[in-house]
Amino acid sequence: MQDPKTGLDAFPAVSSAGSNITVGTSVTIPIFPSTTFTREADGSYPHGYSYSRTGNPNRDALEYALARLEGGAEAIAFASGTAAMMAVMQTLSTGDHVLIANDLYYGARMMLKHIFPRWGLEVSFADLTDAGAAAASMRANTKLIWAETPSNPCLKITDLAAISTLAKRHGAYLVCDNTIGTPILQRPFDFGCDLVMHSTTKYINGHSDLLGGVVIARVNGELSERLRQIQIHGGAVPSAFDAWLTQRGMHTLELRVLAQSASALQIAQFLAEEKAAASRRTGGLKINRVHYPGLPDHPQHALAQRQMPRGSGGLLAFEVEGSQAQALALAAACRVFRRATSLGGVESLIEQRASMEGPDTATPPNLLRLSIGLEPAPQLIADLQEALARAAT
Ligand SMILES: *Cc1c(COP(=O)(O)O)cnc(C)c1O
Repeated sequence: MQDPKTGLDAFPAVSSAGSNITVGTSVTIPIFPSTTFTREADGSYPHGYSYSRTGNPNRDALEYALARLEGGAEAIAFASGTAAMMAVMQTLSTGDHVLIANDLYYGARMMLKHIFPRWGLEVSFADLTDAGAAAASMRANTKLIWAETPSNPCLKITDLAAISTLAKRHGAYLVCDNTIGTPILQRPFDFGCDLVMHSTTKYINGHSDLLGGVVIARVNGELSERLRQIQIHGGAVPSAFDAWLTQRGMHTLELRVLAQSASALQIAQFLAEEKAAASRRTGGLKINRVHYPGLPDHPQHALAQRQMPRGSGGLLAFEVEGSQAQALALAAACRVFRRATSLGGVESLIEQRASMEGPDTATPPNLLRLSIGLEPAPQLIADLQEALARAAT
């Protein structure tokens, strides 16, 4: 439709084909902040949009792109990763049982512990990296298994194909939080997952400037319809501007993630060498342990290589000798790594994770988590090397 004032397509129809968005000669998608959309004289909505909570061109375009990127049938976008996770839980009914990875993202554990028990959802935690332990935790009413791989912050790897077989045997859905893996490195639908969830706040947007989330369904059906209802009637939708920014971030996702993953491997190798040298060295803070699936001594290294063939990701963790004080001292001594929570941005971050998670955390107090950004790896390695020397004095 031509807008008489601008001569441009006023509301390109994107609900059925997000790739069709073009306005005049614009090579990027315009932003549609409008809350509401006008009706024709006969009461119809010429482009399918009536009110932005129900549907918005930028959200549609983002969902279309995310579904294609992950290889699913439909994506449902939310205002944060937490809202996306909440929506998945809300597809369940009172009395259903959810089996959750025991080293799940801390915020998800808090949601399941503090919100859903009052709604009558049964929740139990298991080590999903151990298929036998997972099988033993299944109940007659298990409807959902929630996996996160690599996990946060200890970078454990769950065998998605094995857990998917278990879920299917019990008629339960398998959800994978693919925030850390990203669709570039890991394709959960190829291993039988039913839903993939992302905090798009992290790698997908990639620039630490918004909160967002998405659930992608492998097939269209009852589950995706329920999620769509929760999105529209629950109302935790992303703004048009955030949808637009996220889609802009997605253009460079592959380049960013491959570079961050390659740097993370180099940094993990440096830390592993530091650990090996610790016994021979006198000064400086010592490293006790490195958690990175790309290192050959990681307990699930072979599985990680199969499940994430293009790289092990941009997140890693390590433990220093000592406790919280030593970990905080090392973080404080860094000059390039910024001391902040979150991950997946272009700037490298270091975080003493346990103090962020609170008193009932299972994360060791001497653990530091690194989110590798786009600075050159040698610069990041030098920063850690100098900080290790400086923190001990
Ligand atoms: C950050 C994060 C979340 C929560 O997402 P928000 O956008 O912060 O609400 C969930 N899962 C993982 C793995 C995360 O890193």
